[in-house]
Amino acid sequence: MFEFDLSAQSGSARAGVFHTPHGDLLTPVFAPVGTAATVKALTPLQLKDLGATLVLSNTYHLYLRPGDELVREMGGLHQFMQWPGPMLTDSGGFQVFSLSDTRKIDDDGVTFKSHIDGSLHRFTPEKSIAVQENLGADIIMAFDECAPPLDRDYNRAALNRTHAWAARCQAAQKRADQALFGIVQGGVFYDLREESARYLTGLDFPGYAIGGLAVGESKEQMHAVLEAMHACLPAHKPRYLMGVGSPEDLVNGVKRGIDVFDCVLPTRVARNGAALTRTGRLNMKNAPFARDPRPVEEGCTCYCCANFTRAYVRHLITSEEILAAVLLTIHNVHLLLTLTREMRQSILAGTFDAYAADFLSHYQSSPGQGNKSDSDARPRPAESFS
Ligand SMILES: [Zn+2]
Repeated sequence: MFEFDLSAQSGSARAGVFHTPHGDLLTPVFAPVGTAATVKALTPLQLKDLGATLVLSNTYHLYLRPGDELVREMGGLHQFMQWPGPMLTDSGGFQVFSLSDTRKIDDDGVTFKSHIDGSLHRFTPEKSIAVQENLGADIIMAFDECAPPLDRDYNRAALNRTHAWAARCQAAQKRADQALFGIVQGGVFYDLREESARYLTGLDFPGYAIGGLAVGESKEQMHAVLEAMHACLPAHKPRYLMGVGSPEDLVNGVKRGIDVFDCVLPTRVARNGAALTRTGRLNMKNAPFARDPRPVEEGCTCYCCANFTRAYVRHLITSEEILAAVLLTIHNVHLLLTLTREMRQSILAGTFDAYAADFLSHYQSSPGQGNKSDSDARPRPAESFS
């Protein structure tokens, strides 16, 4: 259980198999985000048909509503939301820390106010693990502090806390059927990242996440940190880049040795009327699509593109029909899952470099997104309202 078999490597890119109690994960793998125990606009059956293998849910949201003990009473998260495959929960830390006006951090934990009713709560490393054990995902995360990536002093102080908390999470873990991943922090500072990787590797987690990226640093800074991490992390453990990404971020991450990704981007932008494609993002609300008989993305084999026109999808969006969100979510999730499968195949075939170069030469970053990594790519506290 929780062994990670590396099947092939192509440069730094890796294809592997991670064994979990609810099935094997073929990596690289992208996890659609089911913030409140549902991937918005999709049924579990649709997710399965799209080829999803791993789904992420958010500890902060489920702790507040409906409550982790209720989920446990209902048989755990897999049973509750009827997702039979591997699942991952985060620690709740990212959402709690982003409640910047209503939370108080000390060395023992964080006290915060619920975004739902203003009630007061407290997360400690032990509490986060207890909540995640009630939820019952296959992969659970250490409670860490995600510091602003460019603030060295903040990162220095937060790193000590993150490391002490990682050891406390490990000591608090009671269930043997969940893989607890440590989270490397340290912002854009290589020495802090290396120190963090060294410390956490010493604790011997079954997998390692790289946290504190895609939160406002530049893409070049993110890539440089990933390259530095490649040498520091053990080869025979999975590596998870949290909160990433866009199609190009997935390719750039795999190229630098990342095995696991999650991101709200495909589902969130779908609800805002945007399609992710192999050449960039399309705003399907745009007037020129009103009489466009083509599918959302030509050549795409998803249910949306196989059956419907851009004209129809745009009509659904402008009429505020629920089906608009459903169809665009199907297309966007299909694209990211297809990309990760293609990358895996190209790594196994030894042709990943050519695949990545070809993909990146056709892809255009969204205007306005500029050179920044996508800083709006994780579920915020109020995400469950949107
Ligand atoms: Zn499609």
